Amino acid sequence: MHWFDYCAPEGLEEALDIFAEYGERAKALAGGTDLIIFMEKGRLKPDLVVEIPFRPPFVGVEATDSHIRIGSRTTMRELETSFLIRERIPILAEAASKVGSLQIRNLATIGGNICTASPAGDTLPALLVLDASVRLVSKGGERTIPLREFFLGPGETVRRADELLTEVIVPIPPYRSGWSFYKLSVRRYMDIAIVNVASLVQVNEDGVITDAKIALGSVAPTPIRAYEAEERLRGNTINDILLDEVGKLAQEASNPITDQRGTAEYRRIMVYRLTKRVVRGAYEQAVAQIQS
Ligand SMILES: Cc1cc2nc3c(=O)[nH]c(=O)nc-3n(C[C@H](O)[C@H](O)[C@H](O)COP(=O)(O)OP(=O)(O)OC[C@H]3O[C@@H](n4cnc5c(N)ncnc54)[C@H](O)[C@@H]3O)c2cc1C
Repeated sequence: MHWFDYCAPEGLEEALDIFAEYGERAKALAGGTDLIIFMEKGRLKPDLVVEIPFRPPFVGVEATDSHIRIGSRTTMRELETSFLIRERIPILAEAASKVGSLQIRNLATIGGNICTASPAGDTLPALLVLDASVRLVSKGGERTIPLREFFLGPGETVRRADELLTEVIVPIPPYRSGWSFYKLSVRRYMDIAIVNVASLVQVNEDGVITDAKIALGSVAPTPIRAYEAEERLRGNTINDILLDEVGKLAQEASNPITDQRGTAEYRRIMVYRLTKRVVRGAYEQAVAQIQS
């Protein structure tokens, strides 16, 4: 690995000063489970590695009436075990529980998962169906970007080099919402997804779908939403014909490649099958809340 300097700023202001000065030459370090590997492989060669401070706004999980705020340094293990997350946005706890091993989840953060911008990042489809936004802060100011507008390509995002991701903001899904997440991988643990699919479905008191979200990972250059499949669900109840159409629309939204984990054709087939599975699961969960 090449030589680099390391610093641990006290808080946000000091960190922003450093990034304003160094720009591209500095890299933020959260859990290091991606950064250190990228540096070992020579893919990233920062002059300066800057530890994200263990201070607000980078830490903490808090709820308001309508939103949950998650500090970007929150680990997968914290997401997986947080009462608040499990209670209000359980799909995120489920997705976080599928990342790596326990050791990795104790280090890996939500901010790191988002900023690495892997098409296969496991929390990303869950955050996309939750309509999450990210807050980016620099010395020049701050902006809040919907996650669906954040990713540009594998490893590429709209974040500027002088900006830090401080928080993830997640709207709390309304009553009668159901969710489902599925990660398909060769091994149960410690494996990157071949395909991961998330869905969030909201119904009215008659079981008619009022809103539906579907997100797909590992089947396009970025994690994506399957907007046409979502639209097809709205105003309907679930049946096999509708699910078949929805699975096909999700398939059309995907654009997978062949790699060592699976062929493009296999991924397309699994997008069809898993979309049907997660949409049905989310719908049944939402409907169960009418009856309870
Ligand atoms: C053995 C192993 C197994 C893994 N398994 C999975 C898996 O199953 N699923 C999965 O999704 N991922 C997996 N990963 C990848 C990795 O663990 C996750 O992407 C993790 O969430 C990265 O978080 P981190 O805190 O370690 O990020 P870091 O490595 O610290 O940072 C990652 C990138 O984000 C930038 N960054 C971090 N925080 C900020 C911030 N606040 N503001 C701006 N930039 C920031 C860094 O500069 C770096 O470029 C695995 C990794 C390993 C080593």
